[in-house]
Amino acid sequence: MDSIFMKIIRREIPATIEYEDDDVIAIKDINPIAPIHILIIPKKFIPTVNDAVEADALLLGKMVLVAKRIASEKGVAEDGYRLIMNVGKGGGQTVFHIHLHLVAGKNLPFETA
Ligand code: 5GP
Repeated sequence: MDSIFMKIIRREIPATIEYEDDDVIAIKDINPIAPIHILIIPKKFIPTVNDAVEADALLLGKMVLVAKRIASEKGVAEDGYRLIMNVGKGGGQTVFHIHLHLVAGKNLPFETA
């Protein structure tokens, strides 16, 4: 299986990389909704949270810790930020390779739509 994010991981298409290790890559969102909008993406291809299994628990946890680290590096940890994971079409997911949105740098009222 493949995704646009797999192509970015393989360097077949460009992206601004904010962080990378053996398990995870973090890139700037191409269409940011806030001054800071970074996607934390596992290198393992998992289409949606519905496809995650017990063995992915550490990987999913690591995504949150990478988000925390980037938020700190960007200087928004104190002020606050939002982590979002859309699941499926009805949840607003458009790229079917799980990713955590790190959004910060503007007032973030809670929105459900
Ligand atoms: P979703 O709606 O699936 O939760 O979020 C997908 C996100 O991926 C969107 O915010 C969209 O702007 C971003 N995106 C889609 N294609 C690309 C791409 O080729 N490069 C980058 N950097 N971001 C992308």
